[in-house]
Amino acid sequence: MSPTEKWLEKDRQYVSDALKIRFYPLAVKSGKGVVLRDFENNEYIDISAGWAVANIGYGHEKMASALQEQYKTLSFSSNITIPDNQMIQLSEKLAGMLPGEFKKKVWYGLTGSDANDCIAKLIPISAKRPRMISFMGSYHGQTMGSLSLSGHTAQARFVSGANVVKVPYPNPYRPPFGRMENLTQQVIDYIENEMFTTICPPESTAGIIIEAIQSDGGVIVPPDDFLPELRKLCDRHGIYLIVDEVKVGMGRTGKWFAFEHSGIEVDAVSLGKPLGGGVPISAVIARKEILDCGNALHLFTSSGNPISTKAALTNLSIIEEERLIGNVIEQGEYFKKQLFDLQTKHEIIGDVRGKGLALGVELVEDRVTKKPASEKTAAVCYRAFELGLLVFYVGVHSNVIEVTPPLIINRKEIDIAVAILDQAMADVERGNV
Ligand code: PLP
Repeated sequence: MSPTEKWLEKDRQYVSDALKIRFYPLAVKSGKGVVLRDFENNEYIDISAGWAVANIGYGHEKMASALQEQYKTLSFSSNITIPDNQMIQLSEKLAGMLPGEFKKKVWYGLTGSDANDCIAKLIPISAKRPRMISFMGSYHGQTMGSLSLSGHTAQARFVSGANVVKVPYPNPYRPPFGRMENLTQQVIDYIENEMFTTICPPESTAGIIIEAIQSDGGVIVPPDDFLPELRKLCDRHGIYLIVDEVKVGMGRTGKWFAFEHSGIEVDAVSLGKPLGGGVPISAVIARKEILDCGNALHLFTSSGNPISTKAALTNLSIIEEERLIGNVIEQGEYFKKQLFDLQTKHEIIGDVRGKGLALGVELVEDRVTKKPASEKTAAVCYRAFELGLLVFYVGVHSNVIEVTPPLIINRKEIDIAVAILDQAMADVERGNV
């Protein structure tokens, strides 16, 4: 048994299955830049960035020294009781990043799920209305509040809160009402004329939560006018608009927040995954009235701890100093073009879409019927792993290859990744694997 196999054997023996989605037999020892290494020192280019977390890449020197320094200076403070300067500084910075001339505050947790639990709890309390609206196919997390907001198939196995109404997401590749024309208006009308007049009157609706790009649902980009129209709908009825930016926020789409592409203001935004550059931290930035609607409503012992907040501050400064958002725009366009080129070679690619470095490649059995090629998608990802590329698939049909590389990726690394995807698809199409 190889050292990697030995670790995997112990993983099978001791680590809970409740924690696992394993795509291929890999355990890792180290990482640098966009590359992860196993215990035999095999190298893999990671274009998932560990589910969009390692945005500054692995093993960043500046982060390593900042964390060491912070640990020596102040290793912990339970910031829910005694605040330290890192958390306060980060709050000022994050509050300043949310567009809008209104008073803002910041809440902290440790993972995207607990940030969305903050939304599930505080939005109805603040609005004094009991219900929330979310979107079919959305993924907001695994804790009970965030799970209740989710409309993903992953959620269907659990009993979750009854006060969340799910509405269709405007998916241009698979329009929910079967027609592409006026997709935005179809969904807005459905909420306003169907939901509001039946099971979900606006007077009892506190907020609508949406992913600006529905990521785990299949990297779905709504029409450009959808968020502006949703904002108007919320304004017409005094409903909060909340955007979940846990996966696509913090620069991944070419702006700090993905919703900024549509020029709107939102009432709250949830953040997680890449916020701490790999160190667990989540946040909600929102209108002061939402996050100040009561004392001690949603707090954890380690909320806003100095190591996590130092990591987030350092992460933000790395993104600014290394001009990573500029790199996202440049490399995102290049990566997408390479994927469109792959589409001309591989009949299995039904659609290529995304913004910046949040890209998706949807695989289908037939471009006309659009039958999801779910098994082949798993086979392509597995074959890519064998060839040295780490990539995962998402989507309610498990047929969308998700491309969310570290934001530091360069052209050469993209070329290698695309060549491997090309080879993996060819092998799967020929039935060679
Ligand atoms: N929100 C979105 C949009 C996500 O993609 C995820 C995770 O995939 C979450 C929330 C939950 O984050 P976490 O797994 O860090 O709790």
